[in-house]
Amino acid sequence: MMGTDRISIIVPCYNEQESLPLFYEEICKVAQSMPTVQFEFLFVNDGSRDDTLTIAKQLAQKDERVKYISFSRNFGKEAGLYAGLENASGDYVAVMDADLQDPPSMLPEMYQLLKSGEYDCAATRRVDRKGEPPIRSFFARLFYKLIRKISNTDIVDGARDFRLMTRQMVDAILSMKEYNRFSKGIFGWVGFKTYWMDYVNVERAAGETKWNFWKLLLYSIDGIVAFSTVPLSIAAVMGILFCLIAFGMILFVFARALIWGDPVSGWPSTICIILGVGGIQLFCTGIMGQYLAKMFMEIKNRPIYIVKESNLDRK
Ligand code: UDP
Ligand code: MG
Repeated sequence: MMGTDRISIIVPCYNEQESLPLFYEEICKVAQSMPTVQFEFLFVNDGSRDDTLTIAKQLAQKDERVKYISFSRNFGKEAGLYAGLENASGDYVAVMDADLQDPPSMLPEMYQLLKSGEYDCAATRRVDRKGEPPIRSFFARLFYKLIRKISNTDIVDGARDFRLMTRQMVDAILSMKEYNRFSKGIFGWVGFKTYWMDYVNVERAAGETKWNFWKLLLYSIDGIVAFSTVPLSIAAVMGILFCLIAFGMILFVFARALIWGDPVSGWPSTICIILGVGGIQLFCTGIMGQYLAKMFMEIKNRPIYIVKESNLDRK
């Protein structure tokens, strides 16, 4: 008999009453195929408005491996992940979606990889974006290109949150206590050796996605603000550029007035310049506002989530 390892599976759930039983069934099958491992399933109910919590409680009643944490309201998936990581007790911790888009069947291989001691993390990456609107794919690619350039964090295109990590890596993630949590960046930021497993995108088993284009756009801005300060330099760079242009134009206007004596015409161009420069100034102020807003939220030091009920005896 080998020494038993403990694996905690963290599942953030928001309105997943249809998916959760399916997920539980699948994960149980996988758990059965890994007899040397002791499992803990940690469902984080992120303020669902449907029967997700009731289902989690029922599962907990018949299966002592099931733990649940229920938030006082919807705090977002990132908060759910954090709560899960904070409360997981396993030697290895996996993060998975409830909708079976993260195939539990990949877990045994992930575990083997980490068990060999060569890797600290086995993470998944989609090789295609099938079933996604083309415009969304286009902007997603653009976003990854941009953020990889302007942040010095390794943020992988197509990476999902689905991964198995060692306790050491989990503790590193937990040491990042920021309020604005952008997991894709955090996973990259802590470093450690990650093995990337490619897989073909799977569509949701049941229920529907909580994302729309607008939410994704805001999320990407959050990601950039959280992991890069390059946008802040835009104001400085543009300021220098515009000073140079202005200087050149002043010389030109003077020369023209002295040589040809025509100081009055040029009203339309003046207006264009005023509007253009005004726009750029507001744009730069807006960028600073974004960072200021994030700082404001960080400084308040609010809790990342609030628990209403749970069957955990820890803490
Ligand atoms: N989720 C959550 N809180 C939210 C939104 C989503 O806990 O506010 C969970 C959701 O229940 C699911 C996972 O995060 O388990 C991924 O959500 P979804 O499937 O909607 O995202 P997608 O797979 O489309 O990126
Ligand atoms: Mg999903």
